[in-house]
Formats: sequence, C-alpha cells, structure tokens
Amino acid sequence: MADWYIPLVTPFFPSVRWRSAGSDVWLSFDDGPHPVATPAVLEVLKQERVHAVFFLLGSQAVRHPEIVRRIRDEGHVIGSHSDEHRAVWFRPRAEVVNRLRVASESIERSGGGRPSLFRPPYGRLDPSTPVHARAAGLTTMMFTVNSWDFAGGPVASTAERVMQRTKPGDIILLHDNDRTSAFAGDLVCEIVRRGRQAGLIFGRPIA
Ligand SMILES: [Zn+2]
Repeated sequence: MADWYIPLVTPFFPSVRWRSAGSDVWLSFDDGPHPVATPAVLEVLKQERVHAVFFLLGSQAVRHPEIVRRIRDEGHVIGSHSDEHRAVWFRPRAEVVNRLRVASESIERSGGGRPSLFRPPYGRLDPSTPVHARAAGLTTMMFTVNSWDFAGGPVASTAERVMQRTKPGDIILLHDNDRTSAFAGDLVCEIVRRGRQAGLIFGRPIA
C-alpha cells in the first residue's frame, strides 16, 4: 500500500483534497465508464444506498454515454480523470489545461454534467498540476487509501487489506476498468459490508 507517503506529500499540495469533509469515508472509482465494471458497481451501490465519485475518462464517456447518464441519474458525483489515460504531470500548462477542457466537454456532452473535480491519471501530480486543473475549472481530489484492486487478488483479501487501512475521513481509490471488471461489484460489496461492521459511514463525496 502506497499510503505511507501521503502524509509526507500533502503539505506540498495545499489546494488538493486528500480526505473527506468530515468523518465519512468516500468511495472513488477511476477509469470508467466501463461497460461491465461500472454497471456492476452501480448495482451494488444502489442496493447498499451508497453514493460515490466516479472520475471518468473523456474518451470513455463519449463511448458509453448511457452509463454516464446512469451514474448521474443514480445520484453519484462525476469527476474528470482527463481525456485519455496518460499522465498530466510535468506537462506544459497549455497542454494540461487543453486536455482537461476537452475531457470536461466530452463528459458534459455525454450527459454527465460539467465536472468540478479532477483526479490525475495514475494519481500522478506535480505541484503545478492542481494549478493547471484550477485553470480548467477543476478542483483536484486525491485519495488516502489505494485499494490496489487492479492487482486482481481475491476479493476477500483485497477488502480485508483496504479495511485494515481505512479510518474515518479516508477516501478510497477503486477502479472500474478492464482489469477489475470481473470482480468490481463483489469488491465494493465486500468493502461496504466490512466497513459498516467496523462502524464506518460511507458518505456522498462533495467538492
Ligand atoms: Zn486511472
């Protein structure tokens, strides 16, 4: 778990949101919309009455607008994960701002509304990244608990590992993509179930 470094780097990124607004735990999903993983996740979130934030790729949003609309209709928050899954850190300002504007337009055109939150691909940011994002109208939101779901381990052990690290106020990073589509629904179900047993409250993310 890469979480150990987070307290070390947060002081260098004062405008970035790393934790939830209170003691709630927030679930966040990167890389969607995905035709298999996203509906599976949405089904579980609906059953469990949990609202999450989905950081969508603009390029994926235009391919699956019906899923984008469903995410929005079911009350979740839609953020931007940029246009394509390429890192934006250490890139020139004009390029980053342009890519983020294109992504926001794609998400909006797909029915997701204008995003106000941004999470950089691979979670990689340099000190300028949040400034560039702000110029494109976006607040950067990171996470404090990386699930490493994309490593594809058994659902029970991934959920157990996530829960061992999650405290009130944490933001958990999950994925709805090709690498997680076989188990994304089961994993979020297991995380919510175990988290509630441990007394955690899953809140709706806000900017
Ligand atoms: Zn990603």
